[in-house]
Amino acid sequence: MSRKLQFQCPVCGSGDVFYSCEPKCCFNHVCAECKATFEPVTKPAGTAKRRIAEPQEMPDASDPAVACAKCESVAVYVDDDGALVCKDCGTVLEVELTEVTP
Ligand SMILES: [Zn+2]
Ligand SMILES: [Zn+2]
Ligand SMILES: [Zn+2]
Repeated sequence: MSRKLQFQCPVCGSGDVFYSCEPKCCFNHVCAECKATFEPVTKPAGTAKRRIAEPQEMPDASDPAVACAKCESVAVYVDDDGALVCKDCGTVLEVELTEVTP
């Protein structure tokens, strides 16, 4: 089973983080607790590709999102073991939180 993405605020550690923009613009996220903003970027983890199913609970527009480093798809979900996987191309991704503004 896959899960939808979730990030922790890089400033206060809260999981109450939402995506404030849209994929055609940017990946700015905002923490509901401390109002910090950040942008997650992905890079290939370098491990074998894998297949991932869509999560049972699909993310809505304000749920955390990232673009796949390989194909730019936003269909990126979390696998059983916590790995981020692009559903469209199967790339396993690592995520880094950039542009952190407290
Ligand atoms: Zn925060
Ligand atoms: Zn934007
Ligand atoms: Zn991809």
